[in-house]
Amino acid sequence: MIDEKGILFVLSGPSGVGKGTVRKELFEQDTDLRYSISMTTRNIRPGETDGVDYFYKTKEEFETLIDQNQLLEYAQYVNNYYGTPREYVEKTLAEGHDVFLEIEVQGALQVKENFPEGVFIFLFPPSLEELKNRIVSRGTETEDLVINRLKAARDEIEMMDAYDYVVVNDRVDHAVEKVQSIIQSEHCKRERI
Ligand code: 5GP
Repeated sequence: MIDEKGILFVLSGPSGVGKGTVRKELFEQDTDLRYSISMTTRNIRPGETDGVDYFYKTKEEFETLIDQNQLLEYAQYVNNYYGTPREYVEKTLAEGHDVFLEIEVQGALQVKENFPEGVFIFLFPPSLEELKNRIVSRGTETEDLVINRLKAARDEIEMMDAYDYVVVNDRVDHAVEKVQSIIQSEHCKRERI
């Protein structure tokens, strides 16, 4: 039994909740999933690589992509643009591969409008205090940015009801297992002889 079209999985939730860590660990274990690398205007961080972590764009380049309708969704998040390349996602799904997005909440809600058949997973922090600790201990943000990211996180948590699944990220290995179970169940749901 083969699913003809791939399934779009969207992992979202507040910045600092550990989406990146869960996604990286998931991809260590799951070779069938295709990760959609996002575009961003934010500065590259130490340890990141252009074309691996993000495609880094200037504001002008990003706005051209918006004008040309090349983004499936985009959002302005803490003074930078982030967006998902439309062509990669549509082509990869059409080829029968599952595509995995790791994006913030405004973008996930836009994807839901265009791809209601997608599977939306909200990664939830064990607590707001823990989320703050994680954002601060990352050490790459100024104090103002930490405050902005925490404010964004509170707004994002209010959108949780729009999602199909909620996964609490108390331990990365547990969260990854839960995401894997979701992926399996969604395949079982769609399988037809
Ligand atoms: P960071 O700057 O920490 O890498 O990412 C900030 C936020 O942007 C995170 O919540 C991350 O998941 C989100 N993000 C990354 N790529 C995209 C994207 O393509 N679209 C949207 N809407 N958010 C994204």
